[in-house]
Amino acid sequence: MKNYRSIYEKCLRCKIPDGFVIHHIDFNRENNEISNLIAIPEQLHKDYHKIITQIREQFGIDDNHIKFTTKINDVTMYEAQMLYEYCNIIFEIQKWRSEKLRIMHKIFNEDLYGNSIKSSQE
Ligand SMILES: [Zn+2]
Repeated sequence: MKNYRSIYEKCLRCKIPDGFVIHHIDFNRENNEISNLIAIPEQLHKDYHKIITQIREQFGIDDNHIKFTTKINDVTMYEAQMLYEYCNIIFEIQKWRSEKLRIMHKIFNEDLYGNSIKSSQE
Protein backbone atom coordinates (compact mmCIF):
# COMPACT_ATOMS: atom_id res chain seq x y z
CA MET A 1 0.00 0.00 0.00
CA LYS A 2 1.52 3.28 -1.15
CA ASN A 3 -1.25 5.48 0.19
CA TYR A 4 1.29 7.97 1.54
CA ARG A 5 2.42 8.78 -2.00
CA SER A 6 -1.06 9.98 -2.94
CA ILE A 7 -1.34 11.88 0.38
CA TYR A 8 1.90 13.69 -0.45
CA GLU A 9 0.86 14.52 -4.01
CA LYS A 10 -2.56 15.72 -2.91
CA CYS A 11 -1.19 17.97 -0.14
CA LEU A 12 1.60 19.46 -2.26
CA ARG A 13 -0.58 19.61 -5.36
CA CYS A 14 2.16 18.16 -7.52
CA LYS A 15 3.50 14.86 -8.80
CA ILE A 16 6.38 13.24 -6.98
CA PRO A 17 9.26 13.67 -9.46
CA ASP A 18 10.69 10.59 -11.21
CA GLY A 19 13.48 9.03 -9.18
CA PHE A 20 12.10 10.37 -5.90
CA VAL A 21 10.70 8.29 -3.05
CA ILE A 22 8.76 9.23 0.08
CA HIS A 23 10.61 8.97 3.38
CA HIS A 24 8.84 8.86 6.75
CA ILE A 25 10.73 11.40 8.85
CA ASP A 26 10.06 9.66 12.19
CA PHE A 27 10.75 6.21 10.62
CA ASN A 28 7.18 5.17 11.44
CA ARG A 29 5.58 3.99 8.20
CA GLU A 30 2.15 4.10 9.83
CA ASN A 31 2.44 7.85 10.40
CA ASN A 32 1.25 9.30 7.10
CA GLU A 33 0.69 12.85 8.34
CA ILE A 34 1.96 15.28 5.71
CA SER A 35 4.41 16.74 8.26
CA ASN A 36 6.02 13.28 8.48
CA LEU A 37 6.46 12.77 4.75
CA ILE A 38 9.24 14.03 2.54
CA ALA A 39 10.15 13.36 -1.10
CA ILE A 40 13.86 12.76 -1.57
CA PRO A 41 15.96 11.23 -4.36
CA GLU A 42 16.01 7.43 -4.25
CA GLN A 43 19.80 7.16 -3.88
CA LEU A 44 19.85 9.68 -1.02
CA HIS A 45 17.11 7.64 0.66
CA LYS A 46 19.14 4.43 0.33
CA ASP A 47 22.27 6.18 1.63
CA TYR A 48 20.34 7.62 4.58
CA HIS A 49 18.92 4.30 5.72
CA LYS A 50 22.31 2.65 5.23
CA ILE A 51 24.18 5.23 7.32
CA ILE A 52 21.48 5.08 10.03
CA THR A 53 22.00 1.30 10.24
CA GLN A 54 25.78 1.79 10.46
CA ILE A 55 25.46 4.50 13.11
CA ARG A 56 23.10 2.27 15.07
CA GLU A 57 25.58 -0.62 14.97
CA GLN A 58 28.63 1.52 15.75
CA PHE A 59 27.26 3.85 18.43
CA GLY A 60 23.94 2.39 19.48
CA ILE A 61 20.56 4.10 19.57
CA ASP A 62 18.73 4.88 22.77
CA ASP A 63 15.17 6.20 22.54
CA ASN A 64 15.84 7.36 18.95
CA HIS A 65 18.96 9.28 20.01
CA ILE A 66 22.45 8.38 18.91
CA LYS A 67 24.19 6.94 21.93
CA PHE A 68 27.75 8.20 21.80
CA THR A 69 29.88 5.65 23.58
CA THR A 70 32.96 7.08 21.88
CA LYS A 71 35.14 9.45 23.85
CA ILE A 72 35.14 12.95 22.35
CA ASN A 73 38.95 12.88 22.20
CA ASP A 74 39.18 9.33 20.93
CA VAL A 75 37.19 9.17 17.71
CA THR A 76 38.56 6.62 15.27
CA MET A 77 39.00 7.40 11.57
CA TYR A 78 36.25 4.87 10.85
CA GLU A 79 33.83 6.67 13.20
CA ALA A 80 34.84 10.11 11.91
CA GLN A 81 34.21 9.01 8.32
CA MET A 82 30.81 7.63 9.31
CA LEU A 83 29.79 10.83 11.09
CA TYR A 84 31.04 12.92 8.18
CA GLU A 85 28.86 10.92 5.74
CA TYR A 86 25.93 11.14 8.11
CA CYS A 87 26.22 14.95 8.31
CA ASN A 88 26.45 15.26 4.51
CA ILE A 89 23.32 13.17 4.06
CA ILE A 90 21.41 15.14 6.71
CA PHE A 91 22.47 18.36 4.97
CA GLU A 92 21.03 17.08 1.66
CA ILE A 93 17.80 15.94 3.32
CA GLN A 94 17.36 19.34 4.99
CA LYS A 95 17.57 20.98 1.57
CA TRP A 96 14.64 18.83 0.40
CA ARG A 97 12.73 19.64 3.60
CA SER A 98 13.18 23.34 2.82
CA GLU A 99 11.95 22.73 -0.71
CA LYS A 100 8.82 21.02 0.63
CA LEU A 101 8.18 23.94 3.01
CA ARG A 102 8.63 26.40 0.15
CA ILE A 103 5.97 24.57 -1.91
CA MET A 104 3.58 24.40 1.05
CA HIS A 105 4.00 28.09 1.87
CA LYS A 106 3.28 28.90 -1.78
CA ILE A 107 0.08 26.84 -1.66
CA PHE A 108 -1.12 28.73 1.41
CA ASN A 109 -0.06 32.07 -0.09
CA GLU A 110 2.45 32.75 2.62
CA ASP A 111 6.07 33.68 2.45
CA LEU A 112 8.59 31.89 4.65
CA TYR A 113 7.73 34.24 7.51
CA GLY A 114 4.01 33.46 7.37
CA ASN A 115 3.04 36.78 5.71
CA SER A 116 0.39 36.73 3.03
CA ILE A 117 1.99 37.15 -0.40
CA LYS A 118 -1.13 38.82 -1.82
CA SER A 119 -1.28 41.64 0.72
CA SER A 120 2.39 42.52 0.17
CA GLN A 121 1.69 43.31 -3.50
CA GLU A 122 -0.22 46.58 -3.28
ZN1 LIG B 1 12.86 6.12 4.58
